[in-house]
Amino acid sequence: MSHIATVAGVPVDTRHWIGGARVASATTFTDESPIDGRTLAEIARGGQAEAEAAVAAAQAAFPGWAATPPAERARLLRAIAEGVEKRLEELAIVETTDNGALLRSHRRGVMPRVAHNFRFFADRLEDLGHEDFDTRGHINHVSWDPAGPCVLITPWNAPLMLATWKVAPALGAGNTVVLKPSEWSPLTASLLADIAAEAGLPAGVLNVVQGYGAEVGAALVAHPRVRRISFTGSVPTAKSIARSAAGNLVPASFELGGKSPLLVFADADLDPAVNLAIEQYDNAGQVCLAATRLLVEFSIAEEFTRRFVAKAAKLRQGDPRVEVTDIGPNIHTRQIEKIDGFVRRAVAAGARAVVGGGPNTDLGGLYYRPTLLTGVAQDSEIVQEEVFGPVLTLQTFDTEEEAVRLANDTRFGLAATLATGDRDRARRVSERLVAGTVWVNCFFVRDLRAPFGGSRESGVGREGGDWSFDFYCDLKNTVTAPEGWQNH
Ligand code: NAD
Repeated sequence: MSHIATVAGVPVDTRHWIGGARVASATTFTDESPIDGRTLAEIARGGQAEAEAAVAAAQAAFPGWAATPPAERARLLRAIAEGVEKRLEELAIVETTDNGALLRSHRRGVMPRVAHNFRFFADRLEDLGHEDFDTRGHINHVSWDPAGPCVLITPWNAPLMLATWKVAPALGAGNTVVLKPSEWSPLTASLLADIAAEAGLPAGVLNVVQGYGAEVGAALVAHPRVRRISFTGSVPTAKSIARSAAGNLVPASFELGGKSPLLVFADADLDPAVNLAIEQYDNAGQVCLAATRLLVEFSIAEEFTRRFVAKAAKLRQGDPRVEVTDIGPNIHTRQIEKIDGFVRRAVAAGARAVVGGGPNTDLGGLYYRPTLLTGVAQDSEIVQEEVFGPVLTLQTFDTEEEAVRLANDTRFGLAATLATGDRDRARRVSERLVAGTVWVNCFFVRDLRAPFGGSRESGVGREGGDWSFDFYCDLKNTVTAPEGWQNH
């Protein structure tokens, strides 16, 4: 059996990458494209044995990599960034074919950001460890020591972007890595292994294992030799991983789901506010940060809805490889059924679909129409639970107080967005919102030096900038007595 699948003309190795070698498994699983449901590849299906082998390889490579000078680690991260840029077109088309997100976003936004993840942490790691404190002549030197093998587990909605957001700082800090991508989008992680090897990363420093979460994923997070676990995905999976991590007392970082609000005040510039709301359909609603709850001041709600409906009608849904497409498919028929279940139950409970409200059957079974639901109750499932599809709800409020109360009234706290023309209001309201990120009159822009993460059930811990190194390092304080200490 060939272990190379050709996806959109690009050869992709379907095996694991462990200890600098390709490793097959006795069984495989089928990877399909959400664009048309076509089979793309049979991928190695890892389990306990592959988890053991990958952690063993990461552990064997750790002492050498940890001892590699930071400047050399940074050089290798930059070489990986160059490799990503060289293969940008291939990565973009393979990612689009595998997860259905827009090709133009992969080309112009996502893959350049993947390269930037490596460069950003390369620059940052060279500035680490320059902090000394003097206490009565005793120098306290703080060093950022690598922790050991790290397990990184990622979802399918932005596979390579989210993987490299973890891989780059983990490697930069001097750790070795076992990456397990989602079984719904396994391909670009395999290409990343090739790129890292071509860049000269030593064997075993980055390992990629493929397979189901409940099999190889669960085996990895329970492994006693693992020193850090970083996970991006859903809340139920996070809770199961947290139990394994707790059993071994391993620090774990969780970047999870959300049900973020977009608050539109009557003093906002209306058209840009409507555009911010329309933007929430990006990636067919499969964005953890998406502001899926539109909270609109009552006095402008009718006009806001009219303009929103007109704009939504112009969105072009279809093949994500086509330049003019605005909304592509959802990842899997299972996901479509889940999204539709949420919408049907909401409608049965009295909601009205003023936009969309069902699958776009003209395009086959994998495309869900962008949907806006009104007439929803605050304590209803559709307002409280993450749908992870192109489904927004609209509620109204009369006062700032009520807006804040509605905004904060879920078990999540990932992000919040405000549209207002009043700077004082923006400051007042953002201070009271429970969210890891608040955007005022903008969305999604973010400096990588800033912390990223969620409050409540949206996450544990923060990554980004030095917060990433804080997580991936064991901090050590070395206190040295002054010269002539014997005389003290
Ligand atoms: P998921 O939890 O089903 O799967 C995520 C990963 O965990 C996959 O690789 C999966 O194989 C693995 N996994 C599943 N069970 C496991 C187990 N028992 N042990 C170890 N690993 C296991 O999530 P998903 O459906 O792939 O992703 C969607 C979710 O991710 C949404 O909730 C979304 O909001 C969230 N997300 C969050 C962020 C963020 O940065 N906060 C970013 C993107 C997505």
